[in-house]
Amino acid sequence: MGSARLNLLKKTMNLRLDTSIQYVPRVGPAMAKRLEKLNIRTVRDLLYYVPFRYNDFSHSVAINRVVPGTTVTVEGNVQSIKNIFTKTGKKLQEAVIADQSGLLTVVWFNQIYLPKVIHEGDRISLSGPIGFFGNKLVMESPAYEIRGDEEQELLHTGRFVPVYPETRGVSSKWIRGRIAYLLSIQRTLLTELTPRTILQEHHLVGIFDALSSVHFPKSISQAEEGRRRLAFDELFFLQLTSMLRKKQWEDDERATVFKVNEEEVKEFTRHLPFILTDDQQKAIRHICADVKRTYPMNRLLEGDVGSGKTVVAALGMYLAFKNGYTSVMMAPTQILAQQHYETIQQLLNPFGITVTLILGNSKGHPLKGHPLKGSPLRVIIGTHALLQEQIQLNNVGLVVVDEQQRFGVAQRTIIRKKGSTMLTPHFLTMTATPIPRTLALTVYGNLDLSVLSEMPKGRMQVKTWVVPQEKRESAYEWIRKELIKFDCRAFIICPFIEESESLLSVKAVKKEYDRLALGTFRDIPLGLLHGKMKPKDKTNALADFKEGRTKILVSTPVVEVGIDIPEASIMLIEGADRFGLSQLHQLRGRVGRGNLKSYCLLFTENTDEKTLERLKVLEKVKNGPELSEYDLKLRGEGDIFGMKQHGLPTLTLTSLKDRELVEETQQAVHLIMDEDPKLSRFPLLREQVEKGTIEKGIQD
Ligand code: ADP
Ligand code: MG
Repeated sequence: MGSARLNLLKKTMNLRLDTSIQYVPRVGPAMAKRLEKLNIRTVRDLLYYVPFRYNDFSHSVAINRVVPGTTVTVEGNVQSIKNIFTKTGKKLQEAVIADQSGLLTVVWFNQIYLPKVIHEGDRISLSGPIGFFGNKLVMESPAYEIRGDEEQELLHTGRFVPVYPETRGVSSKWIRGRIAYLLSIQRTLLTELTPRTILQEHHLVGIFDALSSVHFPKSISQAEEGRRRLAFDELFFLQLTSMLRKKQWEDDERATVFKVNEEEVKEFTRHLPFILTDDQQKAIRHICADVKRTYPMNRLLEGDVGSGKTVVAALGMYLAFKNGYTSVMMAPTQILAQQHYETIQQLLNPFGITVTLILGNSKGHPLKGHPLKGSPLRVIIGTHALLQEQIQLNNVGLVVVDEQQRFGVAQRTIIRKKGSTMLTPHFLTMTATPIPRTLALTVYGNLDLSVLSEMPKGRMQVKTWVVPQEKRESAYEWIRKELIKFDCRAFIICPFIEESESLLSVKAVKKEYDRLALGTFRDIPLGLLHGKMKPKDKTNALADFKEGRTKILVSTPVVEVGIDIPEASIMLIEGADRFGLSQLHQLRGRVGRGNLKSYCLLFTENTDEKTLERLKVLEKVKNGPELSEYDLKLRGEGDIFGMKQHGLPTLTLTSLKDRELVEETQQAVHLIMDEDPKLSRFPLLREQVEKGTIEKGIQD
């Protein structure tokens, strides 16, 4: 063996799935940089970079058998190749190819380097369409591949050829070559992680075959088979990770065990100014059962805006109090923390429970003078400020996190660990974002779920219209009349220009505010609200609006969650097409909270039929979970929550839309976990899942 080959072999042996892509032979740092644009950073990323289609070049014919209008592969020797520069300024490349049956002319356009790459006498394979050039049969702009030795497998011609998403400087042809290389050493790179029983049970091909089939299939059905296997893995690992997390939580975490006295629970509900819905009662029963166990509750409370999650959380706090523990509640914004504080104070004061609010200043530092000393028993409500080191929490028995997807995993862990005891507090997270069933099984599979799907009685549906551009002025007129007639309030929401609140969107909302304040609504008091305002100014803007000093509040979607202003009955959303349906639904939930008939106006300048159709779903569908399923169907999981920042995993092969596959993989997970819950028979699989390299998106 030559030393060059030996060196290559050594390098090859050092390649692992998580090795940086630049160390793959013929990649290097410059190429690695370009690949980053395709999200390819490691060997694994490239190996799992799936084609989005295949060119069918599998039909090989002798030259004298080519038929115009077909796409074929021919193989022969290059008789001649040259550039032709036409009088009209066109640049053609013309070659003549010979096989035993005859000659074929081949043309390309604008590839003047070709005669430097393809030489007379080369043995070449060509795949492309047959057409006429004048009255001559020619092959046009074919894919080509110069043949070294006969044995060498064809990659770019003469087969189903994979086509990949490309970027500047990275062609499908190049990707193909590197993937073919990785596939040639895949047995040193890859191990079969999925248990054999599961492969058999679910009729799945092995991982080596799957990858080979996905990249270089012999037929489309073979490609499908490979893809199904990879998709299966993706969902299988995702769910397995969730289930292992759940198991670990139950085995390793020791809870602050509560005693639940039924009489006391009844007393709590007796003090409420309303009757709990059945779903609220059910959620409360779940919580009562959870907190009695030796491992801590880890429950997700999901309910549409206005479904009444807060009171359910308050019951948990009440139980903690009765057991001598402090509760902590964390909200994503100051406005929400403030609002929870007021609500919960009202709910818990009758029982002599002290509720304390901790807010941060604009830099996030807790405000001075918070009365944390003194009575050790309390309910503490706050924002990120609670995470600050100087905030010491004692004796925490329950942590409630509102809109948990806005907090990172790390933040949630900090707050959970702050409780200072060796025991882990019970954990309740709340979200108004409906969770499609497939997500509940996968990403959220480690959490127990309570759903409030029923609205408290007497809640009004919000009449919704998609308003086309030409109706804008009359819509404004209508709003003006409503405001005067009912002394109600209207929100006008401008979309985030980028993914989240940015200076750009602040500028946009200010501009819209000016436009309306100087124009259409110059005689009506207008307020302005956006996330970059000082906390005090925000609170003031909301108070002015609530109390009617302003009638219209022009705002970024910061009002999305939680704001409770019963006087607001009109929600106008600009650029509605930029939002997901679930998100629009959440915004719509800001109105219809009092006893005024309420309306949601969706403005869009987009006239695309599909877009309008999507928005019109909101005119009919008034239920959050159903809308989230629509979102999933129409926009894909990346958009379920409207924003990527919610930390959903990016699945490349499957989509969480594939309910059947999600359910199939769930069965597989149960099959293996029931028999071997610690995966002790599958150490490699366990290691992989624990490393979390496969999936980082599991919610905590
Ligand atoms: P969300 O689930 O959006 O957080 P909240 O907990 O803020 O909803 O409740 C919205 C409003 O509904 C509050 O004013 C609350 O007092 C009221 N509410 C909650 N439960 C009921 C109920 N069962 N019947 C009537 N009103 C209720
Ligand atoms: Mg709420």
